[in-house]
Amino acid sequence: MTRAVGDTTGSLLITGISTLVTNDPQLGEGPLGLITDAAVVISGGSGVSGEEIAWVGPASRAPAADQMYDAGGRAMLPGFVDSHAHLVFAGDRTAEFDARMRGLPYTAGGIRTTVAATRAASDEELSAGVARLVGEALRQGTTVIECKSGYGLTVEDEARLLRIAAQHTDEVTYLGAHVVPAEHDPDAYVELVTGEMLDACAPHARWVDVFCERGAFDGDQARAVLESGIKRGLVPRIHANQLTHGPGVRLAVELGAASADHCTHLTDADVDALASGTTVATLLPGAEFSTRAPYPNARCLLDAGVTVALSTDCNPGSSFTTSMPFCVALAVREMGMTPDEAVWAATLGGARALRRDDVGRIVVGARADLMLLDAPSHVHLAYRPGVPLISAVWQRGRQVVS
Ligand SMILES: [Zn+2]
Repeated sequence: MTRAVGDTTGSLLITGISTLVTNDPQLGEGPLGLITDAAVVISGGSGVSGEEIAWVGPASRAPAADQMYDAGGRAMLPGFVDSHAHLVFAGDRTAEFDARMRGLPYTAGGIRTTVAATRAASDEELSAGVARLVGEALRQGTTVIECKSGYGLTVEDEARLLRIAAQHTDEVTYLGAHVVPAEHDPDAYVELVTGEMLDACAPHARWVDVFCERGAFDGDQARAVLESGIKRGLVPRIHANQLTHGPGVRLAVELGAASADHCTHLTDADVDALASGTTVATLLPGAEFSTRAPYPNARCLLDAGVTVALSTDCNPGSSFTTSMPFCVALAVREMGMTPDEAVWAATLGGARALRRDDVGRIVVGARADLMLLDAPSHVHLAYRPGVPLISAVWQRGRQVVS
């Protein structure tokens, strides 16, 4: 018997899994903890925290359960954890992308175009936009997605964007320091971001972020933004070293940020700093793809022992994709990662970047966020780029894609 989509009564045994990526080396082979011919049991009941994984192992030793699902020789992975996305926005930047791809001069200030459209949009329009993108991501296997503000840039609009983001995810990030809005001078704006705007936004967010880059916020300003957020109980993460070398990565490590995101232009000192600390390096190859920019050197980071995550950076300007499979394929083809490394970075790597231990792994007690590929192995995510391979998704034990 197969239980219906959305049914959460009783335990569920998923069997017939050709390759299971557990991300627990104790459970199986290599860093991905691979088990072949595997089974997983999801616990029954519907507690507040959702359903959990109750058993993982070889199918031959699987216990009985109330219901059964035959994976039919497909590969199973933890749901993707996309730890970097900008989903609350309005407006359209197709023409800007088109111009860039035609090699026409491209003026800065694309973020400001989105800001104007976002300020003019209603809560309902913005929320519907987030729901559409979260749904799109879910159909591609993403069961946890982070969401930033950053297209409001006024006290009221930043707080509004965070409240809307929180309707769709627990991982909400205050990014008032995305860019200096046209009506402000930089120092006055940093004062606002670290003062009145922070007061309005801190109750709605878990994280504080800043775009540390030439033309956005310099090292001192980024430090002021992150330190003020830390004082209000927010945990820092940062957009760092995307377009140029800069102080962002070292600042992230110094402040104990959960993640330094982009990491495209790194010095040896930056790599050493990341290797010495707990800050995850989150790579966002969709941004380099969409701007025809050189990719970050993932190989160098991995060889230095840095924890690497992969994310989409979904945003309307520089990376308008929700597809983690696409990012995995890019990471393998363009950034020197092996398929195993890229799959780990897109699942448990993302969980590390969000300091979560309940997702990104298929282990007993973890949240039952799972996906099946229409393929016998996780390697197909890179081997068959652009193919819709995600054939089933469970989120908190509930089948949400079938
Ligand atoms: Zn970003």
